Amino acid sequence: LTDKFQNIFSTLKKKGKLSEQDVKLALREVKLALLEADVNFKVVKKFVKDIRERAVGHEVMESLTPGQQVIKIVNEELVKLMGEEKSDLTFSKESPTVYMMVGLQGAGKTTTTAKLAGSLKKSGKKPLLVACDVYRPAAIKQLQVVGGQIDVPVFTMGDKNKPVDIAKAAIESADKNGNNVVIIDTAGRLHIDEDMMGELIEIKENINPQEILLVVDAMTGQDAVNVAENFNEKIGIDGVILTKLDGDTRGGSALSVRAVTNKPIKFACIGEKLTDIEVFHPERMASRILGMGDVLTLIEKASEAIDAKKAAEMERKFRKAEFTFDDFLEQMQQVKKLGSIGDIMSMIPGMNKQMKDVEIDDKELSKVESMIYSMTLEERANPALINPSRKRRIANGSGNHIQDVNRFIKQFEQSKKMMKQFSGMMKGKGKKGLFN
Ligand code: GDP
Ligand code: MG
Repeated sequence: LTDKFQNIFSTLKKKGKLSEQDVKLALREVKLALLEADVNFKVVKKFVKDIRERAVGHEVMESLTPGQQVIKIVNEELVKLMGEEKSDLTFSKESPTVYMMVGLQGAGKTTTTAKLAGSLKKSGKKPLLVACDVYRPAAIKQLQVVGGQIDVPVFTMGDKNKPVDIAKAAIESADKNGNNVVIIDTAGRLHIDEDMMGELIEIKENINPQEILLVVDAMTGQDAVNVAENFNEKIGIDGVILTKLDGDTRGGSALSVRAVTNKPIKFACIGEKLTDIEVFHPERMASRILGMGDVLTLIEKASEAIDAKKAAEMERKFRKAEFTFDDFLEQMQQVKKLGSIGDIMSMIPGMNKQMKDVEIDDKELSKVESMIYSMTLEERANPALINPSRKRRIANGSGNHIQDVNRFIKQFEQSKKMMKQFSGMMKGKGKKGLFN
């Protein structure tokens, strides 16, 4: 079977250049999608301009259609926008390494302090948490509770001392007790104000932390970006931790924070549990934003949290999971590389009959693509969500009639059944690599 596929492949290689029209249409979609995702307007403008320059006249890669080529460039530019590489925490030569957590109230500093300590502890460090939020009632208690959950000591001097003095004393205590990492949880305010900044600068100047990590709530979109810009100007930050990405399906702040501050996003927090933290990978976030799913992160998380056997089970489940619009899009793009669906299906024993009447031409495919791109990521992942009013929005957004959307969704339900059989026949190849 593989040989046959390779045969079709070699006969179907396409050559050519992207026309300006191809690029223009694709970029319009991209621009709308980014703006809808609450990405900073200036960032979008520059982004689209960069892509246009790269895409027009670009040699089409042998295995990609112009549409895919644009998607590929967009993906690469998204990655670039978010900093290309993951950015690791740095450690100081002299122990202890001190990290200072800063950010507005409610951004997730205290929770993230514990999450970070938990993962550092897993990697063999001996962290000490420091309670420097002396204003918010129960803030100290909160840190003690989360510290207790990960079994990491918490240094406190109650709420009668100045944060800077607490921080200094904590570092001495870490020295004495062999803690090689100190994470300082500071107080936030609802808005940026001079008092808070003054206090943070005082701590910074007295203890000279290895890194100042700004915690921002991704759900606040552009506000998150403004906050980051402000903190960076006033006290200087070394990295950003985005929290509540589980609630932010749009990813706008992730895209703009880096571009606006020029400081790396180091971690992403994706839930309230103390294990819900992961290293921020620009390329994975880009795929997530493009709605192509994020198998790698899921599997990585799974294998960290549970043993390898269970991870394999998880992977299997993931692959078997309900077929979504994202899967459909991905399958469709795979199919486009090869030619018509009919051609391919006819090569698979037993598939001829079911597939005969499914003739989809390229125009139809682009139409379908535009509809899927007009869905929210949630809708793509969960087709059952799509009710009549959502259908209308999708039709308007993609420039199609509601009848088209209806027809497509019906077709989708049919293909869903078919694709399941298809995946079954290609078993072992998995969701990502049907044809390659
Ligand atoms: P702080 O004021 O900056 O210290 O913020 P907290 O650590 O007290 O967090 C404020 C709220 O946000 C708490 O209810 C946390 O459970 C919640 N939170 C923090 N990080 C995340 C996250 O990544 N996802 C979700 N869903 N909630 C989070
Ligand atoms: Mg707090």
